[in-house]
Amino acid sequence: MTTRTDCPLCHGDGGTVLFRNAFLRVVDAQEADYPAFTRVILNRHAQEMTDLNQAERSGLMSAVYLVEALQRRHFQPDKINLAQLGNMVPHVHWHIIARFTDDKHFPNPIWGAPRAAADGPDDEPEAARRNAHIRQLVPAYHQDITQSFSALFDDTADTVPEQTRFEQTLQRITDG
Ligand SMILES: [Zn+2]
Repeated sequence: MTTRTDCPLCHGDGGTVLFRNAFLRVVDAQEADYPAFTRVILNRHAQEMTDLNQAERSGLMSAVYLVEALQRRHFQPDKINLAQLGNMVPHVHWHIIARFTDDKHFPNPIWGAPRAAADGPDDEPEAARRNAHIRQLVPAYHQDITQSFSALFDDTADTVPEQTRFEQTLQRITDG
């Protein structure tokens, strides 16, 4: 497998591992303000999505969409952010972040400026209550990630879930 000596995602998990196969891993990002923040990380070192072949791109995005669907099921967020930046760590990884209109940075990206103080104080107790509630839901969400990925993503070299079964699973999760 391609690795780079100076790359933290080649030499560390990048979070608490919830699922791993030969191709990718899904990790809890361990961000205090965003307890549902999850990452999908390519195991081998590649910098850009177009360094992957078609099957790999498809498999990686299927993983991202599965996490998105599970966040909808468990948290009913106001929006889900999918982000692939890599400016700090140029190793392909996707951020999947459940967002709420009263969260710390909304409507900015979570890496952007926090909300203006003028908007903030009234919402703070509400935001703290909601975050505490989300933290209670996280263990079931993580368990669902592990189970859903184990059911759909083979541990062998086959990187892409069978398409029909995958779409049915997504549908079931988003309808449920
Ligand atoms: Zn790397």
